[in-house]
Amino acid sequence: MSEPNFLPALVGSMSQGAAGNPTVAMIEAAFAHHGLHWRYINMEVSPKDLSAAILGARAMGFRGFNCSLPHKVTVISHLDGLGESAAAMGAVNCVVRRGDQLIGENTDGKGFLRSLQALEDPRGKSVVLFGAGGAARAIAVELALAGTRKITVVNRSKERGEELTFLLRETLQIDASLVVWNGDYDLPEDTDIVINGTSIGLYAPEARLALNTDSLRAGMVVADVIFNPVRTRLLSDAASRGCRPLDGLGMLVSQGIIGVQYWTGIEPDAAVMRAALEAAMGI
Ligand code: NDP
Repeated sequence: MSEPNFLPALVGSMSQGAAGNPTVAMIEAAFAHHGLHWRYINMEVSPKDLSAAILGARAMGFRGFNCSLPHKVTVISHLDGLGESAAAMGAVNCVVRRGDQLIGENTDGKGFLRSLQALEDPRGKSVVLFGAGGAARAIAVELALAGTRKITVVNRSKERGEELTFLLRETLQIDASLVVWNGDYDLPEDTDIVINGTSIGLYAPEARLALNTDSLRAGMVVADVIFNPVRTRLLSDAASRGCRPLDGLGMLVSQGIIGVQYWTGIEPDAAVMRAALEAAMGI
């Protein structure tokens, strides 16, 4: 069959310094697998050009785009509306054209939630979350919206930790408290789910999270946002104590799946996307 002669539907990624972004391979693998005449392209956009780039995307009929640092917050003023969790966390990483409007969503936390739900429903659960940066904030908001009972944020900087617990308590009305991280942390006995939402361990297989591993109990879900290496030291320690490990690659793939769902309306094949991502990352 000959190729259709109309232009492909376009989505893409607006970021800075994103050359070689493995997400491109993952999303395009989904399009190819499902026979969609779509393209996902990387666009290097500097902060001063963001407004013009979004006007260009509108003019060219882009069906949406991802955006990463440094655009996740500044993009909001150029959009027509926000999804619930993007509004709560004040950050957008996925823009979706709905009718003639560009709506900002955040798939960071949704990707984590989707990956977690394959192992455990967080509703009614008690969570310990290390970190209070962008990834931890996105995860915490989705966990709160999914009915988590309690979130203990453990963070090095008090100020960032307080910003997150304030958001969780005041905006999302969830039981949230902050522990300023100082030395090895002992997990409370009622902990069901432990999450490393910090950058500790990225490209550093031996990096150690300051956590008393004796407080890890069999059956707990222990998740890491770090996707390279896939098996972090935290996940290895957790597995050796009978916990259920959840790696960051699943979160990354799930984000891609949700983006493709938002843009195209189809449910893409997760295995195809994970394989393409692993190949692009050389895992
Ligand atoms: P940020 O810079 O916004 O936040 C980093 C967090 O890590 C902060 O809480 C910071 O604490 C903490 N931190 C960093 N170094 C240390 C340290 N030595 N000791 C204690 N705390 C530390 O980063 P992001 O939240 O955007 O990203 C975090 C990680 O998540 C990255 O590695 C990123 O690659 C990964 N990620 C994975 C995704 C996936 O799909 N798997 C998606 C998005 C991100 P403090 O506040 O005190 O500075």
